[in-house]
Amino acid sequence: MNGSWTCGELAAWGTFRKRKWKSFDIHRVEMRTLWKKKILEASTRHLVLAPDAAIDLQLHTTFSDGTWTPEQLIDYLVREQFGLVAITDHDRVDIATVLQQLAAEKQLPLLAAVEMSTSWSGELTDVLCYGFDPEKTALPELARDIVRRQRENTREICENLRKIGISFPNLHELDALLAKPSAQQPHELVALLKRLGYGTGEPSAGTLITDAGFLWATNDLATVVDAAHRSGAVCLIAHPGRGEGYTCYDAHLLDELQSQVPIDGLEVYYPAHTLEQIAMYREYAKTHRLLTSSGSDSHGPEKKPIKYRAELSRSLLERLGIQIS
Ligand SMILES: [Zn+2]
Repeated sequence: MNGSWTCGELAAWGTFRKRKWKSFDIHRVEMRTLWKKKILEASTRHLVLAPDAAIDLQLHTTFSDGTWTPEQLIDYLVREQFGLVAITDHDRVDIATVLQQLAAEKQLPLLAAVEMSTSWSGELTDVLCYGFDPEKTALPELARDIVRRQRENTREICENLRKIGISFPNLHELDALLAKPSAQQPHELVALLKRLGYGTGEPSAGTLITDAGFLWATNDLATVVDAAHRSGAVCLIAHPGRGEGYTCYDAHLLDELQSQVPIDGLEVYYPAHTLEQIAMYREYAKTHRLLTSSGSDSHGPEKKPIKYRAELSRSLLERLGIQIS
């Protein structure tokens, strides 16, 4: 540019420059989105599995409350020749691309997946979401809110413990605790209490934190299902027959749930389900045209992934664009 430019020319140049940079930025964002999508699609697009291919659609790592590192788990799954897997770390929608990349390096097909903490009718229900688009913001926003509220609860517990004379934890320990994934914080609190000599007898460390106000942070089930659907995912009720603090669904309760929330399916095959429960959920899914999944809920090497046959989850896999033949 030189001094002989008129005001109009200068304004025009400014507009041109702005447009140019704007289009460059848009291009960069598009490239980033495309690259992410490419990684996400690469591992499962055009995937064809044999009916007896080994799959496990519920696994956890140190990204939530597991003890496997993602690398250790992926190495194990590759060694054991799994045909398809899903790492479903609690409320971690943000790690999908990282996991896909790690798995892609080892040629392991891995679905974008997450287990969301929800509540329905005042009780806990975990929801497995498969095949979401990580670029859509609805699910990550809900997941971030869980992290925020669980951290708040952890702080509150510590404050209440202090009030009853448990001088714990110090600032450094509290920071370290709050930096852990939200699903791990209550477990870490219990472990820390025990290390410091509290709650080793009666009352137990678990009772101490419960009395100090421990609560699992959850989102409303219908809100999560809606966000997941808007992100392109399907939602299955995790371990519907597990109990242990989670809603234990029978056919009647499933009818009630379905009349309120458009869930897509059930995790029929799960280690804690009895044969009767499996038969009932399978039949229920068939009658109501629901998708079915199978997952070990492995959190570490002491409870290993399970080689479920791919055909047990045929309808789900086909919905996600994976063929079984
Ligand atoms: Zn789980």
